Amino acid sequence: MDKCSFCGRTKKEANILIAGLEGHICDHCIEQAHSIMNEELATKKNVALDAINLLKPAEIKNFLDQYVIGQDMAKKIISVAVYNHYKRLMQKPDTDDIEIEKSNIILAGETGTGKTLLARTVAKMLHVPFTIVDATVLTEAGYVGEDIESLLTRLLQNADYDVKAAEKGIVFIDEIDKIARKGDNPSITRDVSGEGVQQGLLKLLEGSIVNVPPQGGRKHPEQKMIPVDTKNILFICGGAFEGIEKKIAQRLNTQIVGFGASKIRDKVNKDNLLQYIAPQDLRSYGLIPEIIGRLPVLTHLEPLDRKALRAILTEPKNALVKQYIKLFKMDNIKLSFDEEVLDYIVDKAIEFKLGARGLRSICETIMLDAMFEMPSDQAGEIEITTEYASHKLQRINLKILKAS
Ligand code: ADP
Repeated sequence: MDKCSFCGRTKKEANILIAGLEGHICDHCIEQAHSIMNEELATKKNVALDAINLLKPAEIKNFLDQYVIGQDMAKKIISVAVYNHYKRLMQKPDTDDIEIEKSNIILAGETGTGKTLLARTVAKMLHVPFTIVDATVLTEAGYVGEDIESLLTRLLQNADYDVKAAEKGIVFIDEIDKIARKGDNPSITRDVSGEGVQQGLLKLLEGSIVNVPPQGGRKHPEQKMIPVDTKNILFICGGAFEGIEKKIAQRLNTQIVGFGASKIRDKVNKDNLLQYIAPQDLRSYGLIPEIIGRLPVLTHLEPLDRKALRAILTEPKNALVKQYIKLFKMDNIKLSFDEEVLDYIVDKAIEFKLGARGLRSICETIMLDAMFEMPSDQAGEIEITTEYASHKLQRINLKILKAS
């Protein structure tokens, strides 16, 4: 009589009995095998996560150096924070009661100075799920916009819905400055984009179990929420904090009084006040103290000067120039850039205040015709000169690139 080769159930006792080459398996055993398999896979994944590619702080910085130009201070601070964060995750339960606290990070710096790039590069190095979200889409529950929970939807998606992996991921929250409370007095009218949102965000930052809509948004009311623990998610927040220099200057002015004050005051570099940023400035800017407390690592990014912009074109591992050369090479086209044309591109980016992001828009405009026409020939050679570039750029008003 046919029976399950694993548990011995007969055809009658089992709901389904599937025949193999030399035996049978029943539905019970299939289910059991399936759950054993899932467990095994989960432990394997955990092992993989325990072995997150964690380098020492100096090695992390070296890695960042390959992709991000300048920003030494920010890189150093991020390297240490990331290292400590993941060390904290890997610590075995101890007998002593010393708990290492989480080190969420806040980066202040003009737009296009590399905040997102730094966060993205860290995630690349660690091989952990990573997502970028924009704080401006958030509003208080009940208002038009996204709920706080949906910030984690993309992280879950990027982790292929592997909750355990997502729970050790990195979330970059851009434009955190936009949810600052405007004005010094808490408004009596309801503040849709201010304090309420900050309170919601606090929940994520301090670590709690959040019910995340797997499809995001509110478009799928029937979806089953997935609980995600944010305790071990590293949050990196970025913002331009436009106008914060005034708050910094005010604080420095009131702090630096008394004997020898003028000497210290002379030392303060007034052109780059952001380098003196301190938590109390974020508070004056309108972030609530609880949020600031949950973002203990504060650092700034330097504005990019001509030398940095020039380096961004050619030096990073995936520098723009290298990317174009590779693209053309795939069509057997030898592409090269004149040294002067690179200076010319930087000049234009500076002239129109386009920053690092503008470099790309300028290059795209210069390269468009060549990228359109040359692949048809399947071979060839092209050298981009200043004359060629300026001719291509003439067609457009560079001011419009600013929006991109
Ligand atoms: P932010 O987040 O500060 O607004 P991003 O990190 O998004 O700016 O930078 C925009 C683009 O500019 C990046 O994709 C990168 O190509 C380039 N970029 C900006 N800063 C740097 C930098 N320090 N090193 C290398 N590339 C940079």
